[in-house]
Amino acid sequence: MENCVFCKIIGGEIPSERMYEDDDLIVIRDIEPKAKLHYLCIPKEHFALLSEMDERRAELLKRCFEKIPALAGKLGLEDGYRIIINQGENGGQSVHHLHIHLLGGEKLTGF
Ligand code: AMP
Repeated sequence: MENCVFCKIIGGEIPSERMYEDDDLIVIRDIEPKAKLHYLCIPKEHFALLSEMDERRAELLKRCFEKIPALAGKLGLEDGYRIIINQGENGGQSVHHLHIHLLGGEKLTGF
């Protein structure tokens, strides 16, 4: 998708610190961390919202949610983490390519 920062990261046009990649998804370090450790798990297919779900996208998200716990140790999240998916304007979504925030590396408060 043109002008999508995450599509550009996936395509290698914009550099990122890639922690993991396979055919379906990438995990990168967030450029503006909101916790000691902050990663983004990004399905490679461009879509913005959970309301745009179809079978293929549901399968992609399932793979993300299987991969996240499998990678937790490697990412330094073995003591737990918080998952956030911001949706739309009121949810504070700034990049309109669906992504899962992984926050951890410290005891998180404020929830
Ligand atoms: P959201 O507000 O939920 O759409 O989250 C977008 C996230 O993408 C924010 O936490 C940003 O810090 C992060 N972000 C934006 N551009 C980049 C980039 N080039 N590399 C890594 N993370 C980015």
